Amino acid sequence: MTDSAPTLMRGQEVAAALEAELRKGFDTLGFAPGLAVVRVGDDPASEIYVNHKIRACERLGFYSEAHHLPASSTQSEVQQKLEALNADSRIHGILLQLPLPQHLDEKPLLSVIDPAKDVDGFHPINGGRLLAGQPHLLPCTPAGIMEILRYYDVQLEGLRAVVIGRSNIVGKPMALLLLQANASVSVLHSRTPDLSAYTREADLIVVAVGKQKVLTAEMVKPGVVVVDVGMNRLEGRKVTGDVDFDSVAPRCRLITPVPGGVGPMTIAMLLKNTLLAAQSYT
Ligand code: NAP
Repeated sequence: MTDSAPTLMRGQEVAAALEAELRKGFDTLGFAPGLAVVRVGDDPASEIYVNHKIRACERLGFYSEAHHLPASSTQSEVQQKLEALNADSRIHGILLQLPLPQHLDEKPLLSVIDPAKDVDGFHPINGGRLLAGQPHLLPCTPAGIMEILRYYDVQLEGLRAVVIGRSNIVGKPMALLLLQANASVSVLHSRTPDLSAYTREADLIVVAVGKQKVLTAEMVKPGVVVVDVGMNRLEGRKVTGDVDFDSVAPRCRLITPVPGGVGPMTIAMLLKNTLLAAQSYT
């Protein structure tokens, strides 16, 4: 057990601080950064996420467009929409809302987006830049986690860090960002035979799996810092993370709650990337 109750790392607070910074950056830009969000089909969760992104733009005075294509859209119709936005000088950032309907192939479409407008940071060129240690537009969720760790003054150099999950949008870029900050990083996944062998030694654990209770109290050492990326929908509208919060939190120095931890940072980082893309455009 830790000597005192853990501090909750609240993404809402970090996002508000970041938005204040972004307003200053926007003031000196002299024009409104423009974000286009493309949604294909009628996934209800995607509709909610897109609305949140558009509202966030409006809050900061960014220009925004929401493009809704029918679920029956072909690969080339979506591609044409993305190409038109690439050529549109009012638009500095383009986001293709995932998941796409099953008949569409997401990877080639993500590669159609101009890397300079790729505010989700999913284009292979931006992934390659991160790998090469020359990051520009970073994937929003892991970049948001880095902001949270900075805000709560977690010194990463020399830490033993464990990332559970190796997706292209969270786990892998998270591991690269921690490595760049001089942590020693292990990446675990579904074929890792014994997660505990790694997590029990870790000073920092980031869990991005999408399954409840992947991390439990006996898997962590006292004083650990835990970041829970998971968003698992329960009955009704309730959401829970991947960490068994009630048992793990008392052992932690710092932990993110779900909801209210990582989630709020993702949109704040999208706005930051849109501003960065607009600044690079000038
Ligand atoms: P994903 O693409 O499904 O990847 C999940 C990863 O977890 C995979 O690498 C998988 O390993 C690994 N995994 C699965 N079962 C495991 C187990 N029992 N033990 C260890 N590793 C296991 O998911 P994602 O897109 O990275 O998202 C992960 C979670 O974060 C989801 O709940 C998602 O909703 C949430 N999320 C939240 C935000 C936010 O803003 N808060 C943003 C993005 C994602 P393999 O590679 O071997 O299959």
